[in-house]
Amino acid sequence: MEKEPKTILCYGDSNTYGLMPVPGGRYPYRKRWTTLLGNQLGEGYVVVPEGLSGRTTAFDREGAPWKNGLAPLKAIIGSHVPVDIFIVMLGTNDTIPEVGASAEQIADGMEQVLLAAKEAFAELQEEQPQVILAVPAPIGDAYEQSTDTGALDMGAYIKSRQIAGLYEQLAEKHGCTFVNMQEAEVSAIDSEHLTERGHEQVAAKMLQAVLSLEGQAAAASAEKREAEETGGMQYEITDDCIGCGYCLGVCPGICINGNHIPFVIDQEKCQHCGACLDVCQADAVALI
Ligand code: SF4
Ligand code: SF4
Repeated sequence: MEKEPKTILCYGDSNTYGLMPVPGGRYPYRKRWTTLLGNQLGEGYVVVPEGLSGRTTAFDREGAPWKNGLAPLKAIIGSHVPVDIFIVMLGTNDTIPEVGASAEQIADGMEQVLLAAKEAFAELQEEQPQVILAVPAPIGDAYEQSTDTGALDMGAYIKSRQIAGLYEQLAEKHGCTFVNMQEAEVSAIDSEHLTERGHEQVAAKMLQAVLSLEGQAAAASAEKREAEETGGMQYEITDDCIGCGYCLGVCPGICINGNHIPFVIDQEKCQHCGACLDVCQADAVALI
């Protein structure tokens, strides 16, 4: 049966939507970080951008309660299950004066998103996805001259940096992979939105995180397979070994060291075939 591509759901705000600081509108599809990530990962993956301009973690916006990140979360997850990797990058809009949240309240909002997502995934698919929690790019230094008139202040500038440490703690608490986008470049014109280079930087960091998760998953699955095959046990040669060498002749993995008595099995290479145990006349091979 043809292998299905893995689904990566990216839940974010205007920087996941791909809002262009100058002259406004949306970056072309090929320039958004979600597209770049998908291109770099190749055809084994589907990267789904779910970015909404103005979205917060868990706060209503004036006249737009639907920009509260909790509001559509379950429906969005339900539209894309099964999801293998869930990326969440929110918090910038929470820092602005209109929302008025403190850094701690923003982290609390992010925790609500993580918990709501976990609950939705538990109901809508068999296994929890891997979660990447990204702290967004911070508000730029020229926030006072931002073209987003009156939207930013020094509080937003400071909080957009303070949340980095709080998100890192959250990631640890909830077993997420933490990614820090605080070095990603934002426009000097509006101090909020990623430049083209910023999109490339975000894509590169996300790629690193996804590949690291995939490496961990592969190792965990190999370990699980081995544990299933052996019942968590391994073959070992005991002091009863007389050095006859019969086991060397039958081992398919060339994983027995016969330089010393007792012989020693290299557990990294052992294929758990049991041939050494069967052939040993001295009962020197044990499954432990
Ligand atoms: S067959 Fe048994 S006794 Fe002979 S070398 Fe191997 S482990 Fe030792
Ligand atoms: S169990 Fe098989 S692979 Fe492992 S050491 Fe014995 S003969 Fe070699």
